[in-house]
Amino acid sequence: MPDGLPESGATAPLVDQFGRQVTYLRLSVTDRCDLRCTYCMAERMQFLPKPELLTIEELDQVAAAFIRRGVQKIRITGGEPLVRRGMDELIKRLGGYLGQGLEELTLTTNGTLLELFADLLAENGVKRINVSLDSLDPAGFEAITRRGKLDKVLAGIDAALDAGLKIKINTVAMKHDNLSEIPAMVEWAHGKGMDLTLIEVMPLGDTGEDRVDQYIPLPMVRDQLSERWTLEDLPATDRNAGPSRYVRVAETGGKLGFITPLTNNFCAGCNRVRVTCTGRIYMCLGQDDHIDLRAALRESDAPDAALNACLDRALFKKPERHEFSIKTRGEAPALPRHMSVTGG
Ligand code: SAM
Ligand code: SF4
Repeated sequence: MPDGLPESGATAPLVDQFGRQVTYLRLSVTDRCDLRCTYCMAERMQFLPKPELLTIEELDQVAAAFIRRGVQKIRITGGEPLVRRGMDELIKRLGGYLGQGLEELTLTTNGTLLELFADLLAENGVKRINVSLDSLDPAGFEAITRRGKLDKVLAGIDAALDAGLKIKINTVAMKHDNLSEIPAMVEWAHGKGMDLTLIEVMPLGDTGEDRVDQYIPLPMVRDQLSERWTLEDLPATDRNAGPSRYVRVAETGGKLGFITPLTNNFCAGCNRVRVTCTGRIYMCLGQDDHIDLRAALRESDAPDAALNACLDRALFKKPERHEFSIKTRGEAPALPRHMSVTGG
């Protein structure tokens, strides 16, 4: 057992019924956000009451329990993780587990507060982050996010690069809002030494928009891009057991990823689980089955043992695959849960 982790009994790896070992935790620290992206949230979101959220100490306890059970990579997410009060403390605590079983600590952010956090992240062992950005046009960005200021995000990206962080840009491809901009975004990202991954819109949570109007299958986008550029498939070793499939754009030299939860199910090698800001473990982004860790933490006389029992139950229930579809206008989302609640 690594020295720096709090004591606890169980250390068995987290292997599910299909033989997949969970080594990657996505930890959501808040459902709140300073933006309201049209594919993610409703204009008027009802956020959770604060006492429902795991405290910084509880988030730390959960992370440590997962690391003891073989989790090597933690991604902090949300909602927007950098709006969470106490984030600096959490980054310091989780950074302390690096080299103690944890091999990588990372973050997905909308970048609006990155300028303030870039140095702290680098100082605490974070090497790479994902920044979500769907447009480089100030008006387009404000429309997609319903309020965001592009210059704040660009300043955050520059601060993070200056601090030595590697950045991957995540861009949700949308039929009307940013499709024509995608080549320019790829050129911009690659020009700054950043990879870019395109994501298909997923039917998660009611946003007040019809996703039929947003969804574009990524194979169509790839076909368009390959008329402009030479896209060279990268070998499986570059795929990092994640849902992205990567190509190298010969003309820019940069990497371009495609996450296709709708057109191409990628569950066979799934190595991850998600914990929400309220302490629910979701074993699959696309299914509603979950285990409540918060009750174990708050109500048990032996919280570490209760936590471990929850992890075992969760793994037993991890499903083989998800099913999403966006076909019919007016169709209800596949799941009522927003991505901002589960943690993207
Ligand atoms: N606020 C942070 C951000 O935007 O990076 C972290 C949380 S956000 C939920 C994580 C990722 O999920 C973002 O890249 C966002 O674009 C993506 N996302 C949110 N809702 C989505 C949806 N319905 N379909 C596809 N991607 C979605
Ligand atoms: Fe906020 Fe991220 Fe959702 Fe946009 S995608 S509303 S930035 S949580």
